Amino acid sequence: MNNFSWYNAKSIEDALTQVNSTASNEIYRQTEKAAILKAGGTDLLDLMKEGLLQPKTIVNIRELPGLDKIEFSNNDGLRVGANSTLAEIAAHEDIRKHYIAFAQAAGDAATPQLRNMATIGGNIAQRTRCWYFRSYDHPCFRKGGDRCFAKNGENENHAILNNGSCVSVHASSVSTALMAYDARVVIVNSKNETKEIPIADFFVAPGEDPLRETILEADEIITHIRLAKPASGTKAAYIKQGARESHDWSIADVAVVLEMNGKTCKRAAIALGAASPVPLRSMRAEGALAGNQITHEIALEAATLAMERARPLAKNGYKVPLFINLIQEAILNAS
Ligand SMILES: Cc1cc2nc3c(=O)[nH]c(=O)nc-3n(C[C@H](O)[C@H](O)[C@H](O)COP(=O)(O)OP(=O)(O)OC[C@H]3O[C@@H](n4cnc5c(N)ncnc54)[C@H](O)[C@@H]3O)c2cc1C
Repeated sequence: MNNFSWYNAKSIEDALTQVNSTASNEIYRQTEKAAILKAGGTDLLDLMKEGLLQPKTIVNIRELPGLDKIEFSNNDGLRVGANSTLAEIAAHEDIRKHYIAFAQAAGDAATPQLRNMATIGGNIAQRTRCWYFRSYDHPCFRKGGDRCFAKNGENENHAILNNGSCVSVHASSVSTALMAYDARVVIVNSKNETKEIPIADFFVAPGEDPLRETILEADEIITHIRLAKPASGTKAAYIKQGARESHDWSIADVAVVLEMNGKTCKRAAIALGAASPVPLRSMRAEGALAGNQITHEIALEAATLAMERARPLAKNGYKVPLFINLIQEAILNAS
């Protein structure tokens, strides 16, 4: 790991001034110059130990006042400060009551120790855990190289959908639930401009820009995430499958949010994690449920449709039946 200086930011403006003065958006190539934000540090420190990031300054935003608030109201829905930890989200009464799939996704991530450190802002901004991306010795497409080593290599954890130029999957399984709830990400920049964007537009597919996984610029901070109050009759479920019960990322995870009218589904949102390079909504599966009663058969039909365009790689064919089972189970659990 390189030597670096440590700066405790006093406010959001102060943090953004620090990163703006030395910022580089191409941090993986101009590593020496950059300052970078740190929240819980659970991903950032790994990237530094792996030699992928060598920031000159770490700007600590973990203690910034106000960024860890979680608030719910019937009018405005949920507002989760970027520094809220996964443990706080998993245990929060209003989140468990109104957004159970979000609470489940946060509670199923990583380990108890990590969930106490890991923040939701850092979670959605974390980098892929593809082992070739994480290896200093593999100049892959995502790091500005000219190929994807996983495509014809060790690809058992990798993408089965949209797996063109890069077959990595996004590491945030919590984002799967956020996608199903149509969450919005609120970001402020060093010019004090604020923008609020749908979570689906927050992620960047490798085909759009291989060097980034999110739209975040170096001089931007996520301040909070917003979720609208669910319509009455909303039910939800989340399931994560990892290679191990704990201490592991997802190899397949599913979040389902159903707006029900009695036994009939008025509207469905079905999000898949670890299926493609960015978290994904399956419009095909959602279309199969809308207007129908939820039965075993219709849940299986929706799950099969979600995998219709799957193109597994040499070592991850198992993910197709796994996803079909998880999607069917999540739909039935939610309904
Ligand atoms: C063993 C292990 C298992 C794991 N399993 C899972 C899992 O199952 N599911 C899952 O979703 N995750 C999993 N994780 C990932 C973990 O949840 C993330 O590392 C964590 O959420 C990142 O949050 P952090 O606060 O530590 O971010 P940091 O490491 O501090 O930051 C990560 C990135 O986000 C940026 N950042 C942080 N906060 C902000 C902000 N407010 N605005 C702008 N940029 C910001 C930083 O600059 C950095 O680039 C696992 C991690 C480990 C080590």
